[in-house]
Amino acid sequence: MAELRVCALYPDLMNIYADRGNLLLLERRCQWRGIGFSVAASGLGDRLDPDGADLYYIGGGQDRDQQLCALDLAEVKRDALHAAADRGAVILAVCGGYQLLGHSYQLGDETLPGTGLVDLVTVRSDKARLIGNVAIEVELDPGVRRVLAGFENHGGRTHLGPGATPLGRVLKGYGNNGVDGHEGVRRGNVIGTYLHGPLLPKNAWFADWLIETALGLGSLEPLDDRLEADAHADARRAAGV
Ligand code: GLN
Repeated sequence: MAELRVCALYPDLMNIYADRGNLLLLERRCQWRGIGFSVAASGLGDRLDPDGADLYYIGGGQDRDQQLCALDLAEVKRDALHAAADRGAVILAVCGGYQLLGHSYQLGDETLPGTGLVDLVTVRSDKARLIGNVAIEVELDPGVRRVLAGFENHGGRTHLGPGATPLGRVLKGYGNNGVDGHEGVRRGNVIGTYLHGPLLPKNAWFADWLIETALGLGSLEPLDDRLEADAHADARRAAGV
């Protein structure tokens, strides 16, 4: 039986806005289809096994918790994360976790190191936080455009470098920085996004895409998604698209 092995990085520190809900949704959608599921945690100081999971998850976090995690990511887990990405594992990072995927997160006088998995930098702004419902258009598979809807709340502004591709185009909301219309980042199976609140229960089709991609499966058996479709429609309505 196929099994989705998830590794949650810093689940105690990087965990706001229903990050646990994202993991629960992955678990349920696997269980409902008879796909095995396991989740392991990797906290501060823990070595990361680059072959130990099909999907690595980094959730959102407050600036002070990100400081601890950024140093640990850079010093303890960086090489393993690069190795996992190189072998095609899915790495999904949300908000605070997303900000740590790039080269750096500048917080006032301090510059936190990033994992360097993608070409981007984030700078903490003194201006208003970017808060509200958000919807983006994504094209995860060529020619198939879909909408991801969620909620964003971040003080950091993220700017993609020339080597980076956004995850999607902002339809409503702020996205990476409120200026360039980009949201998130994608490099192969490495995905970062500001959408939470929570991301996967509001976009169950995206959870399935992650499961398929992480396990290298074709399309998954459909489920009765009436409740999930309603949640998606509500999130789209809230964002005004
Ligand atoms: N601390 C980061 C910021 O405010 C990320 C916040 C979050 O994960 N919601 O930009």
